[in-house]
Amino acid sequence: MSSIKITLPDGSVKEFLKGIKGIEIAQSISEGLARNALSIEVNGEIWDLSRPINQDSSIKIFTWNDKGGKYAFWHSSAHLFAEALEAVYPGVKFGIGPPIENGFYYDVDLGDIPFGDEELLAVEKKMVELAKQNNAFVRSDVSKKEAIEYFTSKGDPYKLELIEGLQDGSITFYKQGNFVDLCRGPHIPTTAPIKAIKLLSVAGAYWRGDEKNKMLKRIYGITFPKQKELEEYLFLLEEAKKRDHRKLGKELELFAFSEKVGMGLPLWLPKGTILRERLEQFMRRAQVKAGYEPVVTPHIGSKQLYVTSGHYEKYGKDSFQPIKTPDENEEFFLKPMNCPHHCEIYKTKPRSYKDLPIRYAEFGTVYRYEQSGELHGLTRVRGFTQDDAHIFCTPDQVKGEFVKVIDLVFFVFKSLGFENYTAQVSLRDPANKIKYIGEDALWERAEREIQEAADERGLKTVAVKGEAAFYGPKLDFMVKDALGRSWQLGTIQVDYQLPQRFELEYVGADNQKHCPVMIHRAPFGSLERFVAVLIEHCAGNFPLWLAPEQFSVLPISEKFNDYAQKVVDTLKESDIRGFLDDRDEKIGRKIRDSEMKKVPFMLVVGEKEVSEGKVSVRKHGEGDKGTMDLNEFVATFSKEFSLPSS
Ligand SMILES: [Zn+2]
Ligand SMILES: [Zn+2]
Repeated sequence: MSSIKITLPDGSVKEFLKGIKGIEIAQSISEGLARNALSIEVNGEIWDLSRPINQDSSIKIFTWNDKGGKYAFWHSSAHLFAEALEAVYPGVKFGIGPPIENGFYYDVDLGDIPFGDEELLAVEKKMVELAKQNNAFVRSDVSKKEAIEYFTSKGDPYKLELIEGLQDGSITFYKQGNFVDLCRGPHIPTTAPIKAIKLLSVAGAYWRGDEKNKMLKRIYGITFPKQKELEEYLFLLEEAKKRDHRKLGKELELFAFSEKVGMGLPLWLPKGTILRERLEQFMRRAQVKAGYEPVVTPHIGSKQLYVTSGHYEKYGKDSFQPIKTPDENEEFFLKPMNCPHHCEIYKTKPRSYKDLPIRYAEFGTVYRYEQSGELHGLTRVRGFTQDDAHIFCTPDQVKGEFVKVIDLVFFVFKSLGFENYTAQVSLRDPANKIKYIGEDALWERAEREIQEAADERGLKTVAVKGEAAFYGPKLDFMVKDALGRSWQLGTIQVDYQLPQRFELEYVGADNQKHCPVMIHRAPFGSLERFVAVLIEHCAGNFPLWLAPEQFSVLPISEKFNDYAQKVVDTLKESDIRGFLDDRDEKIGRKIRDSEMKKVPFMLVVGEKEVSEGKVSVRKHGEGDKGTMDLNEFVATFSKEFSLPSS
């Protein structure tokens, strides 16, 4: 038998007999790897470990720690679920059952059978029982005719419909235990590693996503190799529910939505507005320090503006409809982005290389059409405000500007308690350079310099080829929140196109006209989305400088209300925000309510405090901090009360 060359992820090459299986390669590396292996990537495709490899290949063996391992694990769990469901409900019909980011789902047709929590539990129990049987997932090639015969005799119209769309010769079945599924794979070797199982919920889903089709039940589940991992996941799921920004936004009276105003159009309540204004103040101050100039532009722009920018051609028909003036028949659009307006500001006078870089910053409110079904709290809205800025510079200045923006983004993350972040450098697809606008040499230089800027600042990055926009490379920040979830926050993007479309110019040192490079950047991204992420990250316990109410004064009885009012007034004079709780309630109740509202400081006043001219300080989540006079209180926490400075 002939031999083949297998290239391992570290670049080393091993020779094996043709037909070697992934599991055997794993064994040749180490027993431990073979024990934990779940699937194998062969030349970019994920395969079963038991599938013979017949030609020279690059491989990577996946365990639970790899996406490819989880993918096969959860895909196999979907099959196990289907086997269990069929065991409990013979005759059930199956749609599709893919792995998803966390776990899997299966679309099923249960006819009129009611299916709720109790039923989920029963099927879950069956899954545990079947998993223990250690059944192998066995792949087999079948002809289209055989496949049709099998599912006709089984009476599964959905699978038959799927087979219709497949080519003869490309069809595979997978079998484990008594269950056979039409499936391309890949799967883990056996059911045994699926040790911890939870069926999470039932939703409705139209067959093939088409509302003309029958509504099936979509059953979600998740599985893990260890019980402890399942418990941790369920804990995080619960915690995420508690921190859901839509729930906390309501409880803390930060924002609201009104159907009458319109879907996806947030209303900022007074407390939310304080939060938002504090964020704006914070950013404004940091930007002034970094050399930005604030500008203000209107919420609409003429159609011609967006024809010039290319947005009309690209988004026109999917976007909002034009607004027409009654007599002149002029056409305007709600502004989907601020860049075209800023280009026109750049053009208000001739520019020399000595003027550059020019940095225009605006809290620009933009409107974008989102389907109503896609709207979600503050994270997907139809109107939002970007902490936008556009830097116009020479090609020589791109790197320096990137370094500066990275510093600004770091300052934002640090001030708001995001400690865990990385970035993605999005590059051109080198095999498809024709897709991109801008000179080759400029691209190569910018791509190299973005990477250098990130490296200089110690920012961990992954470079992804083919992810750049057609008009320039970019750097996107990925932030992990307190629950370990990743969010894309903050972006810096080079643009060679808009300056050309708007015919922007500057006179260079050579006395010739040149086109500037434009950099779009927004550290928060959208204020709405940023606030949503922040709420969930800190569970509504904002840093002191940001909290809409920084203190409450809680008199022990009505007798002390006057003194309490004086405390409120004195602190307000020092620009510290708070309120008096003078309700006729017991002090324990007042403290509980302030804790619920996540007010950072509770200042309790009674007989002793009044006679000494002091307050008893309690900190949210920390408890008693002792009695102090107001000067001492302000002095102790003054740094935390004021805007962070770089
Ligand atoms: Zn499958
Ligand atoms: Zn822009």
